[in-house]
Amino acid sequence: MTPCPAVRPSYPPSEVKAGVSGDPPSGCGSKFTRDSFFLMADGKGNPDFPKDLVVKCVNPDCEFSGDKQLPILGVDEPIYRRLPAFIIATVDKFASLPWVGRTGALFGHVERYDQNGFYGPADPKLGKALGAPLSPPDLIIQDELHLISGPLGTIAGLYETVVDELASRATNGKKIRPKIVASTATVRRAESQIRALFERPATAIFPPPGPNIEDSFFAITEAPPGTPARLYIGVAAQGRSLKVIMLRTALALMSAAQTLYRENGGRPNRLNPLDPYMTLVGYFNSLRELGGSRRIFEDEVISRLERYSKRHRLDPVDDLFSDRKFRYEIQELTSRVSTNDVANAKRLLGKQFYEDEAVDVALATNMISVGLDIVRLGTMFVNGQPKTTAEYIQATSRVGRDVEKPGLVITLFNIHKPRDRSHYERFPTFHRSFYRSVEATSVTPFSPRALDRALAATLVGLCRQGFAFMTPSASAAEIENRRSELEAAAQRFAKRAVEHRQIRQSEAVKLYDYVLNRCKELLDDWLTIQQNFAQTGTRLISCIAFGK
Ligand SMILES: [Zn+2]
Repeated sequence: MTPCPAVRPSYPPSEVKAGVSGDPPSGCGSKFTRDSFFLMADGKGNPDFPKDLVVKCVNPDCEFSGDKQLPILGVDEPIYRRLPAFIIATVDKFASLPWVGRTGALFGHVERYDQNGFYGPADPKLGKALGAPLSPPDLIIQDELHLISGPLGTIAGLYETVVDELASRATNGKKIRPKIVASTATVRRAESQIRALFERPATAIFPPPGPNIEDSFFAITEAPPGTPARLYIGVAAQGRSLKVIMLRTALALMSAAQTLYRENGGRPNRLNPLDPYMTLVGYFNSLRELGGSRRIFEDEVISRLERYSKRHRLDPVDDLFSDRKFRYEIQELTSRVSTNDVANAKRLLGKQFYEDEAVDVALATNMISVGLDIVRLGTMFVNGQPKTTAEYIQATSRVGRDVEKPGLVITLFNIHKPRDRSHYERFPTFHRSFYRSVEATSVTPFSPRALDRALAATLVGLCRQGFAFMTPSASAAEIENRRSELEAAAQRFAKRAVEHRQIRQSEAVKLYDYVLNRCKELLDDWLTIQQNFAQTGTRLISCIAFGK
């Protein structure tokens, strides 16, 4: 959200329309600035522990300026209190379910309200009674479904059991579950992944295939332009290390780009067609490889480029290369630099090469595979074949996003590694149909190892948020009186286990008993801990340092 979304109430809705060619829509549309955001301290004047983030408009004429704030929340506590209609979150937030009692409010588990928001069982005695319960979220959108796979997807699948149960309501004896819409461009066997993650036996693909492969009514296939979006080139060299190949490739790419850039008018030509090829993006499969390569860039690429024009081909003679001076430092997009620096690097990558601060080289890990949408980028080298084809497609799709500026991807191979060699040898065949090679992802939430890792947390999450009497942190001791009622949570997990994939009847019975027993053992352990605590007069509570 970059401009203020406020619409003047004096405009009838029919007159409010988005402006053309980037004009702000009628209404406010002022851009947010640093002065739009206020961190509110914890009431004790401690700015290190902000309690709330207030967003205001900088336009003094806007009704969301001065004393009034925009209805946008950015801090957990106010979100649990005000229960916004639309929430954007990352999947790691699921981990709060067993730890933070108030998270249940997001699923409509609230009983009381006042002018500050809603209160559930975690906040007894506050507010006055609500006439009727609130509805749970009824639409869940999972973006980038292919990322919820492997170990992350496996653990997420167990947490989804809790989310699904908390977001379901019985209406006229029928259980109504939330609708789930998942989006992805690279996935295979989506049905089994969706079933394992969300326990939905039926998957509908949107847009559905139409009678004509090129016109499904929802989408039409455009004839490809004369030039493809990307040209892929594979480079391997016998008896040379990957580092040397990278060094030589980077020098050739950057120096040749400089020659052509100059021939096309250089920086004074603001529409220089070489602009996309002046910024080189390097993709690395690991931080370790990136770290070593960054030093090669800093020590060797920079210094050799300054006198690279003396290299030229003898037969036929040509002068492809020019000297090139790095203007600014190398940018890095990885998890080892701060979020601020990454945001700054992304901003700089968007700069045309004639502008100040434009980037010569940016080195990145798979962090760029999602959410990096910079239209001007045109050249990338990939340092060794990535582990999965899906990752390879996602990463290399970061260049050549403009139809007018096709991308150039150079994949560097270590010919002495069998996997790289095989990719090099069938390079054209592989690239002609690489979507076919996208791996089926596996999600196994009810495997014994996954249960070892996450069943305790998710079972506590469902017990705590699914039963109001267990929600306050002091209620952890309630296990002594309500153990039998919590069996329902154990059964929910067992039932999910047999539904999460296609299995034979005999295997289903075994799996049901196995999961049910593991849940019961956990509940027994919980009860034993409480009984031991009770004997010594200690209170059992569920909490973390900052939870309530
Ligand atoms: Zn405004």
